[in-house]
Amino acid sequence: MMKIYPIVKYGDPVLETEAQPVTAFDDELKKLVADMFESMYAAKGVGLAAPQIGISLQLAVIDTTFKEDPKARLVLANPQIVRMEGRQQGEEGCLSIPEFREKVVRPKRVTVRAQDENGEWYEKTGEDLLARAFLHETDHLHGKLYISYVSALKRDLMKRKIRKLQRSGEW
Ligand SMILES: [Zn+2]
Repeated sequence: MMKIYPIVKYGDPVLETEAQPVTAFDDELKKLVADMFESMYAAKGVGLAAPQIGISLQLAVIDTTFKEDPKARLVLANPQIVRMEGRQQGEEGCLSIPEFREKVVRPKRVTVRAQDENGEWYEKTGEDLLARAFLHETDHLHGKLYISYVSALKRDLMKRKIRKLQRSGEW
């Protein structure tokens, strides 16, 4: 039985907390990974980090093809960014900050070193959207959100709008 987790929204402290390393690569972890993919697809996302479902673990899933290519499904346990090159500018959003998108400058080509759901270490290099996803999801595991890269002025504006939505019970 798959479990679709609700997505934790901005304002919940779990999103701004350093997550714990994954140490047990057991059946429970494999079930969590499968549920995270389903939860990500249900939320129409291409990346999801465990803190976004309220679980403070260094674990994220990515599928930038959104189900098109099964080989594009990536599990990142204990990921580390090991190389970054170039520069890209593009709009970025986050399932935990719905309805908002902002321009964020990121490196264009990024190599991540991570463990899969079996605990096997691997390295993978991604460009453009995949590079952005590696950085965005790895940031989540260290309690960092993409809004920390937008200007203070824009960030304050976003926070004001979010507070308004919180007050009216729409967040
Ligand atoms: Zn996010």
